[in-house]
Amino acid sequence: MSAKIIDGAQLAMDIRRDLSRRVESLEAASGVTPGLAVVLVGDDPASRVYVANKTRACKAVGIRSVLHRLDADVEQDSIIAIIKALNEDPSVHGILVQLPLPPWIQSRPVLEAISVEKDVDGFHLYNVGGLVLGDAIFSPCTPYGVVKLLESVGISVDGQNVVIVGASNIVGKPMAHMLMTRDATVAICHAKTRDLAQFTILADILVVAAGVPNLILPQMVKTGAVVIDVGINRMADGRLVGDVDFEALVKKASYITPVPGGVGPMTVTMLLENTYLSALRSQGALVNRAGNAASGDEAFYASGR
Ligand code: NAD
Repeated sequence: MSAKIIDGAQLAMDIRRDLSRRVESLEAASGVTPGLAVVLVGDDPASRVYVANKTRACKAVGIRSVLHRLDADVEQDSIIAIIKALNEDPSVHGILVQLPLPPWIQSRPVLEAISVEKDVDGFHLYNVGGLVLGDAIFSPCTPYGVVKLLESVGISVDGQNVVIVGASNIVGKPMAHMLMTRDATVAICHAKTRDLAQFTILADILVVAAGVPNLILPQMVKTGAVVIDVGINRMADGRLVGDVDFEALVKKASYITPVPGGVGPMTVTMLLENTYLSALRSQGALVNRAGNAASGDEAFYASGR
């Protein structure tokens, strides 16, 4: 068996092309340009690269982005004051605080300061709670990207056994809720799971987000399973690899995402999508997760009211 490669880079390009058209239409109809404010604290080189990628991607689809760079020794209250000012600014539709924050700053109060309507990363408690109920205003970008990847190749998770390796707040846990909402049977594994393979072998769909290269070997995966590799690991020789043994699993899985070029490009794309949706909602539009006019309960929750 040779797996079909799910091409995240191509899908991200397609979505971004469509998004620039939607941004243009919104501007033409209402004069509103979606705006994203990014708050970057300190000098972490990886964070600077991520932020540069996000602002470049915004520009490419016509979203206005404003970067607030703050010194690492900034007071927590000053960060919160900036966020509160951005909450009041009608030209800003999304606010993103690049994580991780320096260890002496508590991330929770900072993230809670972001208004729910502008929480395009989906990390505010209200959005996390919404995710549990299946009605989040903004879905967190990485798991949202995974859902889009599965949809793009026509894979339904309904009734499927999904095993998620990794239980972080930004990937594993929201991923589990999003897939449960879509009627998958979900198991979550983490660093303290005993005998990981006894879980992964049951997976029809395996989502791996642990940050450990070669964690998933072919003998741990059922023939014909769908394998989504969220992991990003920089090896000593400079190569970027995921968490699964891609070369071996491409011969055993039915579908697999590559690293790079799988989940990564989708994460930034979903951030752009969420910022656009927020701008649309600011115009009083009721929209569903696909960015279309919505009705009933879905419209109620998606509108954030
Ligand atoms: P994290 O460190 O916050 O969480 C890792 C999770 O994996 C934890 O729940 C931990 O218990 C579990 N884990 C660690 N070692 C394990 C093991 N040996 N067996 C089973 N579980 C184990 O990391 P994160 O922020 O969730 O990121 C995970 C990976 O995904 C990283 O490689 C990160 O770079 C990548 N990531 C990629 C994207 C993307 O856009 N592609 C986005 C976010 C994170």
